[in-house]
Amino acid sequence: MKKAILCGKLFTAANDKVQKNMVIFIEDGKITDVKTVKKADTTDCEVIDLSDKFVMPGLIDGHMHSIYSGEPAVVSKTAAENTINGMLNLEKDLMAGFTTIRDEGSFDFEDVALKKAIDAGMIKGPRMITSGKPITATGGHADSRYPLAIDAGDYGAFVISGADQARDAARKVFKYGADQIKLMGTGGVMSMGDEPGAPELTFDELKAAADIANDRGRNSSIHCHGAKGMKNAMKAGVRTIEHGMLMDDEAIDMMAETGTYLIPTIVAAKAIVDNGVAAGIHPENVAKAAFCVANHYTNLMKCYKKGVKICWGTDAGTPFNFHGTQTVEFKYMADAGLPVGYILQAVTRVNAEMLMMEDKIGTVEAGKFADIVAVDGDPFKDIETMRHVSFVMKGGEVFKQ
Ligand SMILES: [Zn+2]
Repeated sequence: MKKAILCGKLFTAANDKVQKNMVIFIEDGKITDVKTVKKADTTDCEVIDLSDKFVMPGLIDGHMHSIYSGEPAVVSKTAAENTINGMLNLEKDLMAGFTTIRDEGSFDFEDVALKKAIDAGMIKGPRMITSGKPITATGGHADSRYPLAIDAGDYGAFVISGADQARDAARKVFKYGADQIKLMGTGGVMSMGDEPGAPELTFDELKAAADIANDRGRNSSIHCHGAKGMKNAMKAGVRTIEHGMLMDDEAIDMMAETGTYLIPTIVAAKAIVDNGVAAGIHPENVAKAAFCVANHYTNLMKCYKKGVKICWGTDAGTPFNFHGTQTVEFKYMADAGLPVGYILQAVTRVNAEMLMMEDKIGTVEAGKFADIVAVDGDPFKDIETMRHVSFVMKGGEVFKQ
């Protein structure tokens, strides 16, 4: 049966404007039309009355980890445990309004299994874009094989040295069903003994892996804090830069010129700093998070003014950055000074473009999937209202009302 959603306020995300008293028509899981109430004929439709709500496209978390649950330290679990955690986390994400997420790396391709289960209707969760295992350098971020005795095999990541191994790892990521590659370009916050500012995978390794993704028309993403790693990644043709917390002006200019997407994940560093050592996080990790986040707000505004494509992502699953409450990122982006009209496009249309899915999701327009959420308040008056999504529809099916 055709559905008609009456929208008190409608933010289509095609621009930064809000329309009043609009009706969205839905059939077979897709949006067929968007009309004013005056011109809309809702006979023969199941009517969903959201005339007291602010309606917008389903939210997209452009960077998260479905299998991690916000534990204070990276603890290795079996793939079975990870998958069960992922099932629970992904349902929380959907209920918080995320109808699409990009998983930025799991331990053993659990994300690919979770995606298949969601697509088959076995479990509830968002549409997923998966990375499988990340690709890292020996001793790099996500090389979790600390004791020498286990310094072999691809434990939690494809651990590589050299362009040939980078190519091989990227091919395996696709062979085992992931949608994109995740590279580790610099040291990280939650890894031990490495430097967030220092490059890890070399330019040759990045280029070799990125070529595999680009040749297939697939997305490539890279964990990068330091500016040199960011520049290497852009020269190598990587499409999306994650975190970027230690960027410099030259890296900002390069992102603007090349159209490289930046996913700032403010909450990831902030949750570690705010909870700190007292909450059980290792002092090294807390110190690195504080160092990384120090200039992040200022840099983000520089990026915005230069026209960098800033996306919306959270790294949900990292310490005290829980699935279902990662919507706190809305406030942090507003605190940085980004306009609400932009932030709401970042979490929808800009993210859809970053995922190369702009023909399917990201705006409320005819032809797109009926991924639609609503909040009771008006985010333009109070961004915190984005933390309380009260209506969730994915592919025309209502999951929360
Ligand atoms: Zn991440």
